[in-house]
Amino acid sequence: MTMKLKIAMDGPCASGKSTVAKLLAVRLGYKLINTGAMYRAVGLTAIEKGIDPLDEEAVKAILPEVKVDFEGPASNQRVILNGRDITERIAEPDVASAASSASSLLPVREDLVAQQQALAKEGGVVLEGRDIGTVVLKDAECKFYIVASIEERARRRLLDYERMGIKKSLAEVQEELSIRDKNDMTREHSPLKKADDAIEIDTTGLTIDKVIEKLMAYIEAV
Ligand code: C5P
Repeated sequence: MTMKLKIAMDGPCASGKSTVAKLLAVRLGYKLINTGAMYRAVGLTAIEKGIDPLDEEAVKAILPEVKVDFEGPASNQRVILNGRDITERIAEPDVASAASSASSLLPVREDLVAQQQALAKEGGVVLEGRDIGTVVLKDAECKFYIVASIEERARRRLLDYERMGIKKSLAEVQEELSIRDKNDMTREHSPLKKADDAIEIDTTGLTIDKVIEKLMAYIEAV
């Protein structure tokens, strides 16, 4: 296996890609870059400043303040925004929704994509997001597109919310995911889609170990 690969991991929300990206980064000793956390940091900043996350001019103006650092090992990575640990806060549904809105704005995408490319340039990275294989790392040696059925994704996200003490019904979570899928797949700039050269993995009904085994087989063959 060539050393210091660039690994791109895309797919819809709650498809399992974050868990898988984390485990792969740990296994390979690679840097983990959760690009969704960067869009969430923009969403959080908009919420805290009382800005509509779809207001292009207002959101563009706050971008210089949004510099995200990832701290700690891939197994327990923390998301830091201007010295503040926002890891737990950005997992909440209001931030997810604001991130989804702000991510449709071109200035936001241009700013974050440039930051992501700078973070990845040395290789030895796993980047996880929606446009990694298609835009951010078109040259990645390994591209994966992780999917799962909407029912399974909603069940997984409901469990995440239960652990966080957030009460929602399965139907509400399924609706929330459908709205975000639609936003992500139909937006004008960098919509979520599988790169032509990405390998699609459906994680429905598969254990995490099985998914990792499949991905490692591809990675080891590079
Ligand atoms: O992956 P996560 O759910 O944390 O991402 C939050 C939102 O950020 C997504 O709904 C999507 O709209 C946006 N996003 C994006 N491009 C990425 C990563 C996330 O547009 N590379």
